[in-house]
Amino acid sequence: MRISVIGTGYVGLVTGVCLAQLGHAVTCCDVIKEKIGLISAGTSPIFEPKLEGLLKKNLSSGRLKATTDIPSAVSNSEMSFICVGTPSREDGSIDLTYIQSAAESVSKSMKDGHVVTVKSTVVPGTTQSLIPILEKSGHSFGLCMNPEFLKEGSAVDDFMNPDRIVLGGRDDASRKALAKVYAPFSCPKLEVDLSTAEMIKYAANAFLATKISFINEIANMCERGGIDVTKVAEGIGLDSRIGPKFLKAGCGFGGSCFPKDVKALVSWSKSRSYVPLVIESVLEVNKKQPLMLVDMAQKSLASLKGKTVSVLGLSFKPDTDDIREAPSLSIIQKLLDSGSKVVVYDPQSMENVKRIYADRIYYAKTPQECLEGSDAALIVTEWKEVRALQPVDFKAMKRPLIIDGRRALNPDLFIKAGIEYHGIGWGR
Ligand code: NAD
Repeated sequence: MRISVIGTGYVGLVTGVCLAQLGHAVTCCDVIKEKIGLISAGTSPIFEPKLEGLLKKNLSSGRLKATTDIPSAVSNSEMSFICVGTPSREDGSIDLTYIQSAAESVSKSMKDGHVVTVKSTVVPGTTQSLIPILEKSGHSFGLCMNPEFLKEGSAVDDFMNPDRIVLGGRDDASRKALAKVYAPFSCPKLEVDLSTAEMIKYAANAFLATKISFINEIANMCERGGIDVTKVAEGIGLDSRIGPKFLKAGCGFGGSCFPKDVKALVSWSKSRSYVPLVIESVLEVNKKQPLMLVDMAQKSLASLKGKTVSVLGLSFKPDTDDIREAPSLSIIQKLLDSGSKVVVYDPQSMENVKRIYADRIYYAKTPQECLEGSDAALIVTEWKEVRALQPVDFKAMKRPLIIDGRRALNPDLFIKAGIEYHGIGWGR
């Protein structure tokens, strides 16, 4: 199929590259010239394992192109995937400006029978609300909603090996066209209406976020009862009704999706006069969780004023350079507010953090440099470089003190070496 992809961020670029790999003729579009320049030259503007290799391969096979010329990409395609951002507004509700402007662009250039598929995460009713914009084209069109479940850090593998594909459509003909795109996949495919497809994505993210805040709350209780939460998580995770995933206690969830999507769902629900109590408290727990690390450091050091604190890991999880809503940001802010000197290390996302904190904090080239002369080491993202740290690496600290926000290290190894160790839900 000839496909245009509108928006080349994490979802759009991965979708475009993977659909080309499946054999479709894909044109990726964006309004940012620099992004399109990089993509056309075979360079991925984002760090994502396997993406650049597949990008280069499909550009050279001619199945993939990138352009800022959205009208020509749309008019030369049979289906457009809208993959633009859907950020939060101040009040937590979803900002649909980009979705509407992408729909306007598609509407201006599409021909009869074009199928418009929304892949961005949008609250129930949004895709349906684009109909008046698309009707302005004067052409017949199909309309689909196809939520994306990929995870940053394993986006290509997730796209290529989905657990399920949700085919939301305004009618059977639209769903049939979308099903053709995904014909090579043999996973379960759910055929639903537009709003159900939209709600499936929110319900999935809200459930996963709930699991994280739940285990973090259990971890905070474990700490107060001398219990190790990792054993508790194992004990409950072996129950097939619960399952082991998303039960890793830590300093909270972040990223471009969970915080934004959970907030949007709460706001959408409240606008329909229903207050979702469980989901609202998921956000409350998550707001406090990163600050637990700062509290632990403060307890050990008495005061943070004038102390040097190392922050190991900045991205919201390993294998990505994404720092959107990352726990590291609220930790750094709290440390600065407490009068600490902050030294950070991350293998991929330092440039992104520099754009926020510039010279208010210090940037180390290695985890070892980050630890030199510091009073406390906060483990915020469990990069493999961080998990590989040994007791000897912490000896260069002024006073070796580890606050493990991801339970990334084996405490016994460090305690044996005379290092003070605290960890979320460790209980000792
Ligand atoms: P992103 O911010 O990385 O990328 C969005 C891109 O769209 C940008 O490059 C932007 O320049 C472009 N854009 C904006 N308006 C445009 C327009 N009118 N025409 C052409 N391009 C335009 O966003 P993302 O992380 O890829 O997320 C996109 C959507 O997918 C969001 O709704 C998000 O919630 C959802 N989603 C994201 C993930 C994820 O892990 N990032 C996973 C599943 C779903």
